[in-house]
Amino acid sequence: MNTVDGYVLSVDVGTTTIRGYIYGRDGTVRGSSSKKIKLLYPKPGWVEIDPEELWQQFVSVVKEAVQAAGLQMKQILTLGISTQRATFTTWSKETRKPFHNFISWQDLRATELVKSWNSSYLMKVIHGCGKMLHFLTRQKRFLAASIIKFSTQHVTFRLAWVLQNIKQAQEAVEKDDCCFGTIDTWLLYRLTNGAVHATDYSNASSTGIYDSYQLCWSEFLCSIISLPLSIFPKVENTSHSFGTSDPEIFDYPIHIKCMVADQQAAMFGECCFNVGDIKITMGTGTFMDINTGSKPHTSIAGLYPVIGWKIGQELVYLAEGNSADTGTAVKWAQELSLFSDAAETEAMANNVSDSEGVCFVPSFSGLQAPLNDPRACASFMGLKPSTTKNHLVRAILESIAFRNKQLYDTMVRETCIPVNNIRADGGVCSNNFVMQLTSELLNEKIDRPKHVEMSSLGAAFIAGLGTGKSSKYVDDYLIKTVSTLDIHYTPIPANTGHKAGTNPGQGANPPQDTHKH
Ligand code: ADP
Repeated sequence: MNTVDGYVLSVDVGTTTIRGYIYGRDGTVRGSSSKKIKLLYPKPGWVEIDPEELWQQFVSVVKEAVQAAGLQMKQILTLGISTQRATFTTWSKETRKPFHNFISWQDLRATELVKSWNSSYLMKVIHGCGKMLHFLTRQKRFLAASIIKFSTQHVTFRLAWVLQNIKQAQEAVEKDDCCFGTIDTWLLYRLTNGAVHATDYSNASSTGIYDSYQLCWSEFLCSIISLPLSIFPKVENTSHSFGTSDPEIFDYPIHIKCMVADQQAAMFGECCFNVGDIKITMGTGTFMDINTGSKPHTSIAGLYPVIGWKIGQELVYLAEGNSADTGTAVKWAQELSLFSDAAETEAMANNVSDSEGVCFVPSFSGLQAPLNDPRACASFMGLKPSTTKNHLVRAILESIAFRNKQLYDTMVRETCIPVNNIRADGGVCSNNFVMQLTSELLNEKIDRPKHVEMSSLGAAFIAGLGTGKSSKYVDDYLIKTVSTLDIHYTPIPANTGHKAGTNPGQGANPPQDTHKH
């Protein structure tokens, strides 16, 4: 990729899997490897990952991917790392050993802390400010945007919990011996043998502690919650020479040219470079992002302003809405034996003409924007003696599309940005029923790329850029590759009499295969 004499290695550390891909110059995958991440559940609601084990898995994935491509390490020109966001650990500068496991973005241990802050007097004042967004200074806008309601998904209160409950970490802060890092930062620290403590703008802005308006770790937020500024990593451009791996790790040094948060990487991989471009990633959860250009969008409905990427002098912002339970709902139904493979769900849903009035609310972890209700319960409604497994499955898939519609409407209404392209990726987007119904509900064309591992592709593009051998974003060749969008889903024309949700994905308007090479 991007050069005749080398390959780009990209590793994506997702919520459940680490995947490594080697891309050739034509943007095709030369080799790959993956490993399941072992999630630990030490107490109800706690979700952790062992940092040492994750590091070992990362090293194995890299070695196996290079081997699978039939290459040698010295042929790897550069490495790009895309990571799940807001999962962090803290460690000692002196011993380089972590004080605790990674605390996942899914972990709920800080729920009580979050609740008490959200109901505090200070938050009421900030809420009041939130209603007058246009009159706020940039600093207050950040506060209003990020803490209209605190959430456990951001690092903020899980880190406060660590500093209140883990004595070693507290003592290390006092001795200036403590480093904080999300997964990217930890991997970089290990790769460079402790020489580099850094992250990039996209990862920093996804922690909830970084002020993306003023481009600094938020002094004000840290002071009200007692987080020490000294522990945070340096924030670098997304495409940057982050360092070179210790030659002993892979028997050859690899140049690390990109670190990027996974949703932002997917946005880049989908070539959503223009204002108004939207991508919908449907994996474990749904993440819908709209490119808002050089300006962050301050939301009242609960969209979050993140930095997409910073490359050279160009800083791109996204407004993001999410729905925590997408693949989770499919997986839950699978565990209840409604089907044995997620791929069966499409046929099951199409086997019935409608859900027979059954509705599912996909909210095992509450409902996010625009409802922002952490207590919303997941539920089935409208069950009848005649309800079959097919009706239940159809209701689950419909609920994923309905949440897409809700997020999309919020985004369009709030940002007032005319929508450009809409592109989808993630495991659930291989489901034609969900894709077609979403297209009908949004009344917009949605494109699905051929290679759905967009986070990994985005990290590879950005790393390739870091080699300095490509044009503004990626060379024309690669843009062409990525825009080889596999299928366009289009809303059913009104005159077919077809109703959204009654028979999507087949019949009247089958998905169009459009291999435009
Ligand atoms: P993540 O990157 O968040 O780990 P993925 O993008 O790999 O997630 O998506 C995995 C999810 O996609 C799983 O929950 C799986 O059940 C769901 N999934 C995979 N294929 C299908 C399908 N054909 N229909 C519905 N859901 C699917």
